[in-house]
Amino acid sequence: MKNRSSAIFAIFFVFFFVTGCVQKQVATSGAVKKPKNVIMIIGDGMGPEQVGLLLTYAKQAPNSVIVEGQTGFDKIMAQNGSIGLSMTHAKDVLVVDSAASGSQMATGQFSGSEMIGLDFNGDPAVTVLEKAKAAGKSTGLISDTRVTHATPAAFAAHQAHRKMENEIAVDMLNAGPDVMLGGGLRYWIPKEANDKASAVRKELEEMTEGSVRIKSKRKDNKNLLAQAKDKGYSLAFNKNQMDAASGKLLGLFAYSAMPDGIRVSNSLSDPQRNMPTLREMSAKAIDVLSKDDDGFFLMVEAGLIDWAAHYNDAGGMLHELMRINETISYVVDWAKDRDDTLIIVTADHTTGGFGFSYTGKNLPKAKALPGKMFQDRDYKPGYNFGDPGVLDKLYNQKLSYTDIFGKFDSLSKEEQTPKALADLVNEYTQFPITEAQAARVLETEDNPIYSEGHSYLGSKVVPKLDNKDAFFVYQKYDNRQNLLALEVASDQFVVWNTGTHTNTPVLVFTKGPDTAREPFEGIMHHTQLGQRTMDAVTAP
Ligand code: MG
Ligand code: ZN
Repeated sequence: MKNRSSAIFAIFFVFFFVTGCVQKQVATSGAVKKPKNVIMIIGDGMGPEQVGLLLTYAKQAPNSVIVEGQTGFDKIMAQNGSIGLSMTHAKDVLVVDSAASGSQMATGQFSGSEMIGLDFNGDPAVTVLEKAKAAGKSTGLISDTRVTHATPAAFAAHQAHRKMENEIAVDMLNAGPDVMLGGGLRYWIPKEANDKASAVRKELEEMTEGSVRIKSKRKDNKNLLAQAKDKGYSLAFNKNQMDAASGKLLGLFAYSAMPDGIRVSNSLSDPQRNMPTLREMSAKAIDVLSKDDDGFFLMVEAGLIDWAAHYNDAGGMLHELMRINETISYVVDWAKDRDDTLIIVTADHTTGGFGFSYTGKNLPKAKALPGKMFQDRDYKPGYNFGDPGVLDKLYNQKLSYTDIFGKFDSLSKEEQTPKALADLVNEYTQFPITEAQAARVLETEDNPIYSEGHSYLGSKVVPKLDNKDAFFVYQKYDNRQNLLALEVASDQFVVWNTGTHTNTPVLVFTKGPDTAREPFEGIMHHTQLGQRTMDAVTAP
């Protein structure tokens, strides 16, 4: 009896000793515990300036709608999160565009300007999504722009140029992420859908239930929706259809980009709303993907921060940031009690060179202060350091600049007067302009100082973009929004340096298991961020 218990004891001892050693070996050999799930959230154009606007609004707006001023970024940091700083430039250039930056994040390799999923030589490079899929994980891509737009495309397509969205759609379908949600139906339907009498048109009208404008931009009759169905995807064109779907899911909710942040904010409490939000799409994707025991990789893009920043539309940009904030909060809450999920929140670059700045206008009046150093003098700073009340006014903007000019353009030619523009601006924003200011905004069309993109007032570069349709869907002239922004800048205490991108390094917020999160601390380049993300999705 005694011998037997000794033997059992010995066996247990050996067992614990061996397993102890094995565990210790794992711990000391530097092997990283791989997270089961990786969720990457990209704010397009969301540089430190944009994160700063959200934080400023959350903490300083007198009537901030963000509960207790707690943003998604605060939540990440409150849950043992980390911050890193990442440079974004593409190969041999200073400033990056979304395609090259997305490619660098997706592949961990340097890419070339405007390339999709290629290395800088122009060869296809394996993406983190492809790697996750090869490791047996489920995968998903979400964007509030078009699914085929540069950022999501870089994760699942390999093309010479970001504008090749017809080819990108084919690539993406072949790459086969389990979930793809966003806008851009126009690249997925055959050319013959433009013929109103065609059978495919009638079929599409039924499928979409009138939720999406049906017009193809394809040059061929490939019906990618039919191909997706054959591959086992459920299709969704509105929120009800998305909610009802299960399994692999392709959701295309808009002809081009989905509605901008202000439209989303305006419609949130509308019971008739059938357009999913970025948060709702993310929740659906996580719902579908998390059924996979091998885990998942999901990329969610808030793509319209960049568009608002290109237009220098500060109020519009704040609403875009509200949208990513809501999405980050949701994802962080979902992962709160899990130790198997790595969340990475970053940007592809920063746009606009935005900031609040103090002015020499409306200088503060002298006032008495109770402090002992002000007993025999007034408190009178020499500059106007900015009224936090402008944050509420920015939030109260009711239409994006793009939509304001859309309304202006829908007027008859005779009605398109400076007064009409001033009336629209003064109706839909809280930063009124005069007729004279509106005239300045409108006269710029034929003014070479503006239209050639020369410096204006010393710091303002007005963009001259040749390919309007590729980037900006609604507007006819590129510079009116930017010039409107200039007219209201000092009342907003806002400065913009450009209508394009800057090279300011972007923030990298991470939350997750320590060993998965720590590689993203410190200073890095986006190729390293990409490599570390690829490491994270590799099967253990
Ligand atoms: Mg993008
Ligand atoms: Zn951009």
